[in-house]
Amino acid sequence: MTVRTRFAPSPTGYLHIGGVRTALFNWLFARQRGGQFILRIDDTDAERNIDSALEPILEGLKWLGIDWDEGPGVGGPHAPYYQSQRADRHRAAAARLLASGHAYRDFATPEELDEERKAAQAAGRPFLYSRRFGAFDDATAARFTAEGRASVVRLKMPREGSLVIDDAVRGRVEFAWNREQDHVVQRADGSCLYHLASVVDDHDLEITHVIRAEEHLSNTPRQAYIALSLGYALPAYAHLPLVAEPGSRTKLSKRKLAQYLKNNDFKQVMEHGLKIAERIGLRPEADTFNPVIVDFYREVGYLPWAIDNYLALLGWSYDDKTEYFTRDELVRHFTLERINSSPASFDPKKLWAVQDHYMAARSVDEKLALMLPFLVKARLLADPPPAAAVDTVRQVIEAAGDRLKVAGDILAYADFFLVEEPTMDDAAVAQRLAKPGVRGLLEAFARALETVATFEPAMLEAALKQVVEAAGVKVGDLVHAVRVAVTGKTVGPGLYDCLAILGRERSLARIAAALPLCG
Ligand code: GLU
Repeated sequence: MTVRTRFAPSPTGYLHIGGVRTALFNWLFARQRGGQFILRIDDTDAERNIDSALEPILEGLKWLGIDWDEGPGVGGPHAPYYQSQRADRHRAAAARLLASGHAYRDFATPEELDEERKAAQAAGRPFLYSRRFGAFDDATAARFTAEGRASVVRLKMPREGSLVIDDAVRGRVEFAWNREQDHVVQRADGSCLYHLASVVDDHDLEITHVIRAEEHLSNTPRQAYIALSLGYALPAYAHLPLVAEPGSRTKLSKRKLAQYLKNNDFKQVMEHGLKIAERIGLRPEADTFNPVIVDFYREVGYLPWAIDNYLALLGWSYDDKTEYFTRDELVRHFTLERINSSPASFDPKKLWAVQDHYMAARSVDEKLALMLPFLVKARLLADPPPAAAVDTVRQVIEAAGDRLKVAGDILAYADFFLVEEPTMDDAAVAQRLAKPGVRGLLEAFARALETVATFEPAMLEAALKQVVEAAGVKVGDLVHAVRVAVTGKTVGPGLYDCLAILGRERSLARIAAALPLCG
């Protein structure tokens, strides 16, 4: 049997971290088994513009390297891959359910159903519809229609016994049939409801394994009932553990942004992201600027594989200790058996550490390729960037070493090299330049720079130490002052690297320009 899995997002306009985890597990399982991974768009309930709501999802998946064998943009033998375009199949299935007696036309009004529900509540028993407005033959249907009633199609759910599934993650799960309502599968206007559509599509697309979020577990009995009634074999099910908030068992939610901003786990990561966002003109109030949404990570410059690797371990493990995997390793090792059923808490700090690990392993050229677009976006570089500027950025990357954690960090490390005059940070000036005696020290250092033989870090360091010794001050006093004078701020590559990259002329000009700010 060829394994066929699917990711079936609704076009919501964003790709949620939990959704990516679902997509990734489906993708990994299909790849591991040499099968196919299908992308289907569950757009039956979509009221908005599908294309614009879908694009961020497709873009996000592509960026993460989660490629699909069939689906939007790729096509495939089972096209169309949009649920809304398969409505005929859904209606035909509803008709079959009616014809076989697994469903019935129901003419009850919402008020009549409500009455029954309330009566059940008052009597303290679970509500099960009496089916008294159900039409099980044509004559009854005609009579109700003559009364001016409209009908929906409801499943005639079993009321005895139970359904048992063998979930690949949760093991044996039993659902008592009498806990299930006679769910509606087709509305009065003829349109079909999601669960019917989903079952029919899974069957038509020959999906063998339904791997999805835990919240869909409760949909399984009605979906299995529909499938079995239509004569389909049930797919294998794997319900993935909840992706929870950091250190909690509650679902990670897009809406809780304000709360997350106060949470230390997110705070650090978000503040870092905000600084980058400001520089590239991203609106921090934009919907996607949210650590629960994949766009956030792409926009601040995470590596897609860091996210994949991190998310693979959100509910799955290989041997409880291996943390880093290449793509091939992950594909080779992935099994449903090693998925854990308890909630997996999303930890932005851990993701940050994984990102750090992978970024540190990138070569200077790889980092350069990743980071140049950020500088272009922030208008610090022209598009295409001139060769000399690219070379400067390369030197900055080399000098910054492991301090560049995400691609967007290049903005803070390279900006002052790429502009004529650095922007002076007021706080840094007050702290490092305004102090008494700094002016004389800087002047002495400038004189030393004029005569230093070659403008390279070791020489520059020796020159600075001499000035410091002669003046009888601490190294830090001068180092910090020079840094603020030439870069305008307190962060950046090592000072001697900064001076070497700037070169003699620009370093001296900047020191001279900073003198009037000194105490
Ligand atoms: N469209 C559903 C969702 O977005 C898919 C449910 C399923 O995987 O069966 O959650």
